[in-house]
Amino acid sequence: MNNVLTLPIRTVGQKIAAGEIRPSELAKAALKVTLVTKPLNAFVTVTAKLAEQQALESDERQRKNGLLGSLDGVPIAVKDNFCVADQPTTCASLMLANFVPGYDATVYKKLKASGAVLIGKTNLDQFAMGSGTVDSYFGPSKNLWGSEVMKNYDFDDYFHNKEIYCPEALSKTDNWNIAGGSSGGSAIAVSTGSCFAALGSDSGGSTRNPASYCGLVGLKPTYGLVSRNGLIPLVNSLDVPGILTRTVDDAVIMLNTLAGPDPLDSTTLKKPFTPFELPSPLDISGLRIGVPKEYKSSSLTEEMSSNWAEVSQLLEEAGARILPVSLPHTEYSIVCYSVLNQCEVASNMARYDGLEYGHRAYENTSVEELYAKTRSEGFNDVVRSRILAGNYFLLAENYEDYFVRAMKVRSLIAQDFENVWQSGVDLLLTPTTLSDAPTYRDFISEDNQTQCSVQDFCTQPANMAGIPAVSIPIKLSRRGLPLSLQLMAPKLCEERLLGVAKWIEDVVKFPRLVIKEESLRD
Ligand code: GLN
Repeated sequence: MNNVLTLPIRTVGQKIAAGEIRPSELAKAALKVTLVTKPLNAFVTVTAKLAEQQALESDERQRKNGLLGSLDGVPIAVKDNFCVADQPTTCASLMLANFVPGYDATVYKKLKASGAVLIGKTNLDQFAMGSGTVDSYFGPSKNLWGSEVMKNYDFDDYFHNKEIYCPEALSKTDNWNIAGGSSGGSAIAVSTGSCFAALGSDSGGSTRNPASYCGLVGLKPTYGLVSRNGLIPLVNSLDVPGILTRTVDDAVIMLNTLAGPDPLDSTTLKKPFTPFELPSPLDISGLRIGVPKEYKSSSLTEEMSSNWAEVSQLLEEAGARILPVSLPHTEYSIVCYSVLNQCEVASNMARYDGLEYGHRAYENTSVEELYAKTRSEGFNDVVRSRILAGNYFLLAENYEDYFVRAMKVRSLIAQDFENVWQSGVDLLLTPTTLSDAPTYRDFISEDNQTQCSVQDFCTQPANMAGIPAVSIPIKLSRRGLPLSLQLMAPKLCEERLLGVAKWIEDVVKFPRLVIKEESLRD
């Protein structure tokens, strides 16, 4: 069963259809992985009962020849900021620690309708505010790569240089690597084989960042292509449900299931989505790939720079044209994002008042005190400071100087991308993150805001422009950790984006981890 857990979704679907694997056995194995990998703290809730029930329903459909498609019987996980009816949905905050929604987010409803089996709800930074999955009410999450849990894993067959990459970090259990964030739990769930795909959310990089650090494919679709209904909002004008998988084809299967207009989210695009499959092999000759000079930050590690250059060269050797381009407003993206983020956070968080649902402080003498105590107990420092800053920016006398100005800068950033596409560039290639995964100790030596400016540097402009972007794992660093790159495309060009991502995936053959059979024995 162990190897089955890391097969491509299509292959697993075929095995289920052929009766070679029973969904209930698959769910049992996936749930076992959640136990073996528990020290990584990927899950806020493991939905074991629900998974068993859903898997039995898949078993039944298989027996009756009524399977619903490639995802029927396939274990998945969902970040704990998407509502799932009758299951805790906490946003990793005390504020919602006991919140059980009465409805499903549209994305989960679609996965359920395709027969996918929910293994659990995954850990995140409180309300998705962060980039390390270190600020969770339920404790930080750890990266599988370089952790003590990795001793339960082998590299898969096509990776032959095992001895070079024996990670020295394995022994240093006191100084583990972060998984990235804020969708770190989802990334760990997929990388460990607890599930085949997971939902993240992405407002400034929260799907692509952990994908980059955990060696996964992390897709942020075009804004409005995938419904936000039931995704607890962070920055409504930037939030997009994200997809984390081990392969590009798996991401395509997920996107085909999730995309499309939703009457429950007025910001979804009205045009119906046409599912696609990727050609293999793709001919990339003549493709024009831009490399933006502003992303050549002095903070890029030397390893990441050469990783970027090597992949550019591979593309060029296969006939693509690599073109230097400029996105001149990149440097304003971080500060512009933080103003917009904080303004929208201030307004989104107003609903948590201790009255209707969520945490309530009991010791109070007045309504004002109830609000104040509830909110100071329920939120962590990061959330509280963003609310304060946002309310300051939104004061009548500050509104023009901050919010309106940030909106103007945002359109300049989006226009930079438009200009590049207009000049005939098909895609952009950049790093996703500046380095491989930082250690927890290094990461928390900087505050949340400073870390966001480092972690989101390469990812966040795509949110500003609403364009699709994907992180692809390339190779291992000297520390034995994943190094990744990002591709960005014009709006709604997911097929082109993922086609080239798949081309890169096929060429670089990133090493994959497979759980050892003996680790799954009872
Ligand atoms: N790191 C960014 C923040 O904390 C982005 C988070 C996200 O994409 N959800 O706001």
